[in-house]
This record gives sequence, C-alpha cells and structure tokens, in this order.
Amino acid sequence: MTRRPDTLKDHESPPASTAPRTALATFRRWFDAGAGPAEAVAGDPDRIDWLRVLPFIGLHLGCLGVLAVGFSWTALWVAVALYALRMFAITGFYHRYFSHKAFRTSRPVQFAFALLGAMSAQRGPLWWAAHHRHHHRHADGPKDLHSPVRRGFWMSHVGWFLTPRAFATDLAAVPDLARYPELRWLDRFDVVVPVALALALFGAGEALAAFAPGLGTDGWQLLVWGFFVSTVALFHATVTINSLAHRFGSRRFPTRDDSRNNGWLALLTFGEGWHNNHHHFPGSARQGFRWWEIDLTWYLLRLLAALGLVWDLKPVPANLRRRAADAGGASLRD
Ligand SMILES: [Zn+2]
Ligand SMILES: [Zn+2]
Repeated sequence: MTRRPDTLKDHESPPASTAPRTALATFRRWFDAGAGPAEAVAGDPDRIDWLRVLPFIGLHLGCLGVLAVGFSWTALWVAVALYALRMFAITGFYHRYFSHKAFRTSRPVQFAFALLGAMSAQRGPLWWAAHHRHHHRHADGPKDLHSPVRRGFWMSHVGWFLTPRAFATDLAAVPDLARYPELRWLDRFDVVVPVALALALFGAGEALAAFAPGLGTDGWQLLVWGFFVSTVALFHATVTINSLAHRFGSRRFPTRDDSRNNGWLALLTFGEGWHNNHHHFPGSARQGFRWWEIDLTWYLLRLLAALGLVWDLKPVPANLRRRAADAGGASLRD
C-alpha cells in the first residue's frame, strides 16, 4: 500500500548497533512524544512502526475485556456518554476551532476542550490541527497522508497514523496554537490524559461497586466499556471522515479533492460527514449547509455561544447557502 520504492528495502531496519538505542527512544516516545534522538525515526517514514504503536494495538485488544467483565447498562451509558463528549471535543474544538479557527473562545475554555479532546487518544491538539491543515492544503494530492483515492482504504483509515512520517508535530503549521505553553505541553505528553481517564474510570467503578451496588458495575467493567470500547469506537468513527467521506456520498461543490457529503457519516460524527461542504468552505463553524443537514456539533456550539463560552461563530456565507439550496444535495441514501 505504501509508495516506497523497493530499492529502499535495505533501510527498513536500523543497523544492529543502533537498534537498542532506537528501541529505547521509541519506548520513551510512548510517554513523551518529543523524546529521543532524531535517528530514532530513521528508515522508511511510510512503514508501520509496530513497536511505537503497541499501545494503540493494546487499546484494541483491551476491548476483548468485555468477555471477562460482562455487561451492565451503567457501563454502556458511560461508554456512550464518553463517546459523545469526546466526539464533540474532537469535532467542535480539535477540528473546527484549533484547525480552522471557525470561532473564538477564552484561554481556559480552549484548554478545557483541548483536555477533553486529548482524552480521545488521538494525540494532542497541535498534532491534530497541523495534520489536518496539511490535509486541506494537499487534499487527495500526492502529499496527502490519508487520501483513500491515492493510498487505499486501510492506509487512509488507520495506516497513515501508524507511520513515522505522521508521528511528529509540524509546529510551523500551527504557530497560532504553539504560542500557548499549556497546549505545547499537552502535545508532548498527550498520553497522560487518556491514562488519567482510564484510572479515573476504574476508581469510579470501584466506588460505585462499594456504594451503589444496585448499578451492577465495578472498576474493571467501567475501564473496559468506558475507556477501551468507547475510545476505539470514537477513533474509528472519527477516521471514517478520512477513509470514507472522500469516497462515498454526493458532491455538491466541485472541489479540487474528492470530498463527499454523506448523511450517515454526519450522524456518526456529529456533523463532519458534510465533508464536501466543508472542503468547499472550511472556515465555517457549521458544516450542514441546509436545515435538514443534521450537524450536532453546530447545535452544541450554538448552545455554548448562548452560554457565553464561545463567540464569533463563523456562519455559512449567504451565497453558499443559496447555492446549496439550488443544487439540492446529499441524502441519507448516499
Ligand atoms: Zn477531507
Ligand atoms: Zn477540516
């Protein structure tokens, strides 16, 4: 699936003498994304770095814990609530705020939603926004890391995320965000946040088992459902916008890329499925351009605006709304 020429095969592994040092640096990067010497990422930048991504694989294996911990409605609702809360933090803040500056907010609220987004185990806000801005600059071009048109389903869905080329944060792409030391810290030690969430869920579950046994849950069950299952579902739903929303759906606007409007993906991702609208006018805080294009993130941003927590939400320009109305558009059948 990668575009690496065969002649580079000799460089797939570092020389034996540097391998332990490289492995150690990789291990340190599990905890500190900025750790280690530059040669630790030497070699083919488009290969999957299995050692580096072991925690990500572990996240998926953790879902198998459902076989051991069983089911309770309490655990399921915690998983659903954490999916919804973190999906909104990703779509409303990682995407529409940090990546596109589609509205304004205060520094405390900016940090609060950066923390909620980091709970998703999708790296820190600077990393996420830098990659996303790169995607918009090169969408479905040769430099787009997650174009399904060029790299196929698996590389665009998850493979790109597991390669050395994608690990570093390009701070030059996010100078407006990198000036906040608290966001730079979060970008470097992003793993702290999901680990803290996992520990908190375990503690909360044990407390419920002791003080509210009628809810039928405990620490291990809340850990498996609330952290592992919810986080894996959230990850795969988020990246459908890379892998599926550039392939399946309708194209209202003739953008340079292959982005699509897809109502099913919009439901799953709280409005992000109106991806052709979004590529046509990325600066809007609203991605559903018609009244029936359900965009839960937009409704929640309006609620935060009514509470005074965010402001200056950038609307869809009137001429685009008229064009969307004239053109008709995607339906749930797409
Ligand atoms: Zn896109
Ligand atoms: Zn975008």
